[in-house]
Amino acid sequence: MGRHRSSEQDDRTRLFECCDCGRRYAFVIPADDTSAKCSRCGATLLSIPGNSLERSRALVLVGIVLIVVANTMPFMSISIKGRVQQASLITGEIALFDQGLWELAALVLFTTVVAPALKLGAMAYVLFGIALPRRLPGLRMVFSWLERLRPWSMIEVYLLGVFVAYVKLKAFATVEVGVACYALGLLMLLMVTIDWALSPELVWRAMEERGLLRRPVAAVTGPLVLCETCDLVAPEARGTSACPRCGGHRHFRKPDSVTRAWALVLTALALYLPANIFPVMTVVSFGKGESDTILSGVKALFYGGMWPLALLVFFASITVPFLKIGGLMFLLVGTQRRSQWRLRDRTLLYRIIESIGRWSMIDIFMLSILAGLVQLGSVATIEPGIGAVSFAAVVIITMFAASAFDPRLMWDAAGENR
Ligand SMILES: [Zn+2]
Ligand SMILES: [Zn+2]
Repeated sequence: MGRHRSSEQDDRTRLFECCDCGRRYAFVIPADDTSAKCSRCGATLLSIPGNSLERSRALVLVGIVLIVVANTMPFMSISIKGRVQQASLITGEIALFDQGLWELAALVLFTTVVAPALKLGAMAYVLFGIALPRRLPGLRMVFSWLERLRPWSMIEVYLLGVFVAYVKLKAFATVEVGVACYALGLLMLLMVTIDWALSPELVWRAMEERGLLRRPVAAVTGPLVLCETCDLVAPEARGTSACPRCGGHRHFRKPDSVTRAWALVLTALALYLPANIFPVMTVVSFGKGESDTILSGVKALFYGGMWPLALLVFFASITVPFLKIGGLMFLLVGTQRRSQWRLRDRTLLYRIIESIGRWSMIDIFMLSILAGLVQLGSVATIEPGIGAVSFAAVVIITMFAASAFDPRLMWDAAGENR
């Protein structure tokens, strides 16, 4: 994909910048069903699946039906000694709220109901909006918000939480899985497919072609800046940081990246201790209460003979947060020491840290399901504990820390981007 000769540098030649290492490329956007990777660090520069827009439109419509079913139909029910308790998708959030843990209730509600619904709604608005003869208001704004919403829709993690909760409940109760649970499973597959099928670049191009945006400046001179929201590389305009395509704020590198990432990592480290010391939940049965920390929850699964699940929860709840905190510190120190050691591998480590962070929410989601379902008075009641709040804070703060860190700084510091 070499640089095209200047005589060929027509309208279709676009500049790209690898958002993981900062290398610049100029090429004509390839035809459908192709993708381009950064030759230096291996990051995906651009991915255009075949029939992207048509496929995404169909998937979004199915997704809206599924999300309505998942949120209105019964989700799961349990019976212990003749007492039956039924739950819908938001019963757990209500239980958390009733127990005074409104931060957790809000977090679970946002990541499992609000964010997925907003994501599908916004996608439908934009995907159908760009095909309508009439100009819809706010298309550009809605689509740039969609990009920011992406990491917060956690249906796939929630589903794994459902699975862990199901296995735990199965040990002492009769569990029935409702229609909503199946709908959620399908919705998860669908969300993954949409993320793969929808090429944001094509949506932006469609908006450009319809004259919904100002055309990006084609000039190659001047200080170029990558827009982290829409991936456009365009010269900086005097007096404004706004992206000419999506209107988002642009910075040459993420502002105060190292300082902010350090502050967030250290905060997460401080919270890691209470998250593992204080109980995340208490099971009260016939007047007797038994508290579980994250580690004792894993132990209980292990001694209950469910060791694959014990390993999964151990990995997601104990190893992943620890790896994230340690990994980010390692990347930060390496950047500050201007290390040239294995830049490509360190960039890969960053990508892993950034993508696995959300999986630590399994325990929190499991807790919200258990707290919602096991409300059987004196027979059995599960109360969420204060440790869960610290734990959720660790997960969220490390996610913010990973997004505050700018991996291009590693390459800058090693002198690779001169
Ligand atoms: Zn790269
Ligand atoms: Zn932009």
